[in-house]
Amino acid sequence: MKKDKLIIIDFNRTIYDPENSQMYAGAREMIKDLRSRGYITVIATRIEGGRSELIAKQGVSDIVDGIENIPTKNGRIFQGIADKYLGHYKKNDVWVIGDYITSEIRAGVEAGFHTIWVRQGKFRDVCSDDIRPEHIIYSIEEVVNIFR
Ligand SMILES: [Mg+2]
Repeated sequence: MKKDKLIIIDFNRTIYDPENSQMYAGAREMIKDLRSRGYITVIATRIEGGRSELIAKQGVSDIVDGIENIPTKNGRIFQGIADKYLGHYKKNDVWVIGDYITSEIRAGVEAGFHTIWVRQGKFRDVCSDDIRPEHIIYSIEEVVNIFR
């Protein structure tokens, strides 16, 4: 079966906790659950020294469909990721999960995709007057409830 739904997942502070140098509890299980529900899962992370090695070390490459190292996060670049993995797609079939409202959540809103803001870690209290995430949760373990 060809998969026709995509989830773009931020890495740092969304599935990986840099303060404790480990994946957040439930992050791997969330990715596996979404894949079993027919979603293509792609990590989108800003190009940064050592980031690729860190992702590899966490074994994340083995459980996702792709990793996209991008120069910045905006709607156009996120739409490019959807083009790459889905070809022709409906905006309704693409989701963005992230911890930073003014970065990947803004990009997801710009692209017209569904957005899930995980309010955990350093940026949990950073707010935005103009960005309206579709879902707000407080830990990555709550993601599965949205897709249930
Ligand atoms: Mg982040």
